[in-house]
Amino acid sequence: MNRVRCLVFNAALGPLDYRVPEGMAVEPGSVVVAPLGPRQIVGVVWEAERLPGTEVPDSKLRPLLSVLPVPPLRAPLRRLIEWCADYYLAPLAAVARMALSSNAALRGGGTVTEYRLTGEEPARLTPQRLQALDLLHDQQGTVRELAEIAGVSEAVLRGMVNAGMLEAVLVDSDRPYPQPDPRHAEPELSEGQAAAAARMVEAVRAHEFRPFLLDGVTGSGKTETYFEALAAALEAGQQVLVLLPEIALTESFLKRFEARFGVTPVTWHSSLKSSERRRAWRQVAFGDARVVVGARSALFLPFARLGLIVVDEAHEISFKQDDGVRYNARDVAVMRAHFEKVPVVLASATPALESLQMAESGRYERLILPDRFGGATLPDIEVIDLREQQPARGRWLSPPLVKALEERLARGEQSLLFLNRRGYAPLTLCRTCGYRFQCPNCSAWLVEHRLSRRLACHHCGHEVPPPDKCPECGEPDCMVACGPGVERIADEVAEILPEARVAVVTSDTLTSPAKAAEFVEQASAKAIDVIVGTQLVTKGFHFPDLTLVGVVDADMGLEGGDLRAAERTYQQIAQVAGRAGRAEKPGEVLIQTRHPTAAVIEALASGDRDAFYAAETEARREANAPPFGRWAAIIVSSEDEAEAREAARAIGGTAPRLRDVMILGPAPAPLSLLRGRHRYRLLVNARRSTELQRVIREWLEPLRFPQGVRVAVDVDPYSFV
Ligand code: ADP
Ligand code: ZN
Repeated sequence: MNRVRCLVFNAALGPLDYRVPEGMAVEPGSVVVAPLGPRQIVGVVWEAERLPGTEVPDSKLRPLLSVLPVPPLRAPLRRLIEWCADYYLAPLAAVARMALSSNAALRGGGTVTEYRLTGEEPARLTPQRLQALDLLHDQQGTVRELAEIAGVSEAVLRGMVNAGMLEAVLVDSDRPYPQPDPRHAEPELSEGQAAAAARMVEAVRAHEFRPFLLDGVTGSGKTETYFEALAAALEAGQQVLVLLPEIALTESFLKRFEARFGVTPVTWHSSLKSSERRRAWRQVAFGDARVVVGARSALFLPFARLGLIVVDEAHEISFKQDDGVRYNARDVAVMRAHFEKVPVVLASATPALESLQMAESGRYERLILPDRFGGATLPDIEVIDLREQQPARGRWLSPPLVKALEERLARGEQSLLFLNRRGYAPLTLCRTCGYRFQCPNCSAWLVEHRLSRRLACHHCGHEVPPPDKCPECGEPDCMVACGPGVERIADEVAEILPEARVAVVTSDTLTSPAKAAEFVEQASAKAIDVIVGTQLVTKGFHFPDLTLVGVVDADMGLEGGDLRAAERTYQQIAQVAGRAGRAEKPGEVLIQTRHPTAAVIEALASGDRDAFYAAETEARREANAPPFGRWAAIIVSSEDEAEAREAARAIGGTAPRLRDVMILGPAPAPLSLLRGRHRYRLLVNARRSTELQRVIREWLEPLRFPQGVRVAVDVDPYSFV
């Protein structure tokens, strides 16, 4: 009797056993189709001894229906899936789903029908067709994808197909990618770069698990350096995964990769077209996609011959996923390298404290690049005390910063103003009655966006047009903007320097890779004098003529006081400072603050990173915070306030009493209403040595809640709201 256990993609079901029919060959990792009641589901054959199963007798087993035409998931990936489910307290099926992330790919290669404009234009057009014509220029995709891009219904597009305005194109989803050439354009490395590269190359050749912390100042050439390790993996016939924190960074990475290796790498992120997704997934699985650069979800791709993982800007908090399976891609990358027995490189100019600690304790090998490449110097950093150098009334830029901006413009150099706040103003109120515009679904203010003329909630996406009168007192034209956002700073620059060409750069303006490319192009061609941006512009970009960076409000990130506030502020400001003076011309950084003596500001001004990290480390040790102690957050939510409160209370009531484990709460979460759900929170703090996950699992598993209640556990949380 040939009986197998399968992990099926239904989080509510445990693993199920099936019979393997005569003539069918499966092994652990095989992706199969199985019957479930009247339906068919996809599953993965798993080692029975690793999954608790059911006791269905052999005679009652139903046969598997088919094996899908993809390579079986390899053991290292299966171990990673188990580890993630266990560590992040997530259903196995939910984690495994992330590995089988293209349904189409599982069904085989073949062709996809896409459409593109023919250039044919009837004399008379409906407004919708006109809109589609406008927006589909240079686009190709399935009807559904094009409908999304054009903002019209699929029926409109089908009409356009019939009218000959759109034509079908058959796309072969198995066509091969061009292969990168490790010797295409080899750089001459500096001595320090060469030494660091040699260590990584050696590890790649040894095909061993070795974690590296590539710790180099901004502009030291970390990318060039890890490219050598990447070349070594290519020479050895292996595949490489490079994780980037933000899709917006991909464009400049692709350019550099192409310059070094002759072709662009394969990309993987959530906005891929389905045909590209299918192609990438399959070629990764068959080993033909050699280098994949992607967002965190690329970590679960089924590489056939992985030889190296690189996590660039490894300190970035966007590697933490905050919904679904709440994992930290940086940590999962290290675990994947461990299971695959390959080196992993965490590259950063401002490593996370956790990573530095791992290096200090000898678990990671630290590779240091202390100098900028090519003799460029690190910028001068100066602090502007806003209490002494006050901006004019209703303005946010202090006299010394204004003067520095004027000088740059006169010299034809570029400036960058950093403020990590999208939109025009974070709060809007009525000047007559004081009414504050608030989101109906979240405990948050609506943020005014003038460029797109709307008030928007940054948590749930709720939007309203700017009202012409106060909803409370009815006063017309009553709105007052409180506080600055990037758009307001851009307006201020336009008033001070009317001739300057100003660009606002945020996730609202760089909405696609194409927009990001356009921005890079314009900035490189010096068609922009002043960039005003959020954290999106703090990393990756390299503009030789950018010589001034102004930090509009260095204190902003320190408010709220979460565990990593100081560290994050340090990282953000050090990173954005790193955009200045990257070539021959020296850079200057001006930091506006009301707390010039705060430890993080002093560390930035003096460039004494080590002292800052040492002080932070001590503070964390005191607080039993990571990397010394561990945290987990339990978030209980429901659309019904009382129901959420009750459930949270029930959890609190059965909290285990353990030495080494401290439980705070339940209490209303700081963001007590989010997307219409009321939220309560418990925080668990434990010693490193405690089996935190087991404690939480045994605590929560017996509890039952009403249907509308959701209980989410966030292990190693980054967000404390
Ligand atoms: P980081 O990622 O450390 O901030 P980059 O890798 O962006 O630094 O390097 C900064 C600049 O110096 C880039 O323009 C890069 O191409 C250049 N550079 C670095 N190392 C070399 C090298 N060995 N040869 C040529 N150019 C280099
Ligand atoms: Zn909202």
